[in-house]
Amino acid sequence: MIYMSSPASIRPYLTMHIGGTVNKIEHIQQKEDLIRLLESYGDTLFILGGGSNTLFSDIHHDLTIGKIDIPGINTVHENTDTITLEIGTGVSWDQLVAHAVRHGYQGIEALSAIPGSVGATPIQNVGAYGSEIRDVLVHVHVYDRDKKEFTDIQNKDCSFGYRDSLFKHIPGRFVVTSITLTLKKMNPTDQTPIPSYKGVTEKLSEKGIETPSLSDIRNTIIEIRKTKLPDPKLIPNSGSFFKNPRLSKEAGVRFIQQFPKAPYFIEPDGLYKIPAGWLLEQTGFKGFPGPVGTYEHNALVVINRGGNFHDLTTLVTKIQNAIKEKYNIMLEIEPNIIM
Ligand SMILES: Cc1cc2nc3c(=O)[nH]c(=O)nc-3n(C[C@H](O)[C@H](O)[C@H](O)COP(=O)(O)OP(=O)(O)OC[C@H]3O[C@@H](n4cnc5c(N)ncnc54)[C@H](O)[C@@H]3O)c2cc1C
Repeated sequence: MIYMSSPASIRPYLTMHIGGTVNKIEHIQQKEDLIRLLESYGDTLFILGGGSNTLFSDIHHDLTIGKIDIPGINTVHENTDTITLEIGTGVSWDQLVAHAVRHGYQGIEALSAIPGSVGATPIQNVGAYGSEIRDVLVHVHVYDRDKKEFTDIQNKDCSFGYRDSLFKHIPGRFVVTSITLTLKKMNPTDQTPIPSYKGVTEKLSEKGIETPSLSDIRNTIIEIRKTKLPDPKLIPNSGSFFKNPRLSKEAGVRFIQQFPKAPYFIEPDGLYKIPAGWLLEQTGFKGFPGPVGTYEHNALVVINRGGNFHDLTTLVTKIQNAIKEKYNIMLEIEPNIIM
């Protein structure tokens, strides 16, 4: 269904509100819509979810947006300990988390309040507070645009990494129409796992909660996130704009010797993760002014105060150059940018 005359501004569909125009915006509510749109628009069909991790340059893009609106949360299997759900990729991710918490299904509560659609979560292997979608994902159901067929891709074949997956490396080939997750069913005697993040444990003890429920974890994380991340409806942004750099063991050790005050985390794979937000703060980018700048409470969040793509790239280059010069680290951008 076409609901806007062409060309259409892409900005209202992106939480950063940066981007030019596209040919049309169409909605995909079922698999048949996808096939029909692919027949009409071929390679120029660009798949979009909630637009919270995507930016477009300010030009006109010869693209039609296929906005994924596929609904549904369905139980495919259940036993006394676990439940397996198949979820349409147009469902809002946080609605799914709320649904899981409400029903006592454990596994995604630490991923509360991440904006966007269910369908985009495997694309960058969304993660927060020690959890990632790969921890609970069974498989994704996709349309393979090369082979022109629907198929399942199992978790082990998704090449998940830190904010990374197979889908990022062959962008556009697979359209995710549903995902299947297995979550743990909480029994009354089960203790809810607490994310091992200082902020979470501190907040829980501030509230006097020793044995939190799933809702306590969700509410605590929502509260913490509110202090660090601006609501995109009020201040346009795409969340964390840069990935946390991960250094090899040798480079990590050298870095900490050179900058002993730097915070770091040693990952299970032995890499040294340096918080990108700290690097930005140390180089004077917290609350950076300008039409596109950084958030006053969290330097890692690039915010749009009414600027355009040029303002964004100017800021990003300035940040990357400053950090490269001071720390010899090249920051990588997290959102997808369509040039
Ligand atoms: C305030 C804020 C906080 C955030 N916090 C976090 C966080 O804690 N952790 C985290 O990991 N991310 C976070 N993000 C980033 C973002 O919310 C997630 O990456 C989210 O999963 C993106 O979902 P979306 O539907 O908006 O994706 P979109 O921006 O619509 O799409 C992202 C990419 O996925 C592709 N895509 C979308 N849907 C499909 C589909 N069905 N099939 C195939 N390709 C598809 C698009 O083409 C695009 O390339 C945050 C963003 C904001 C604004």
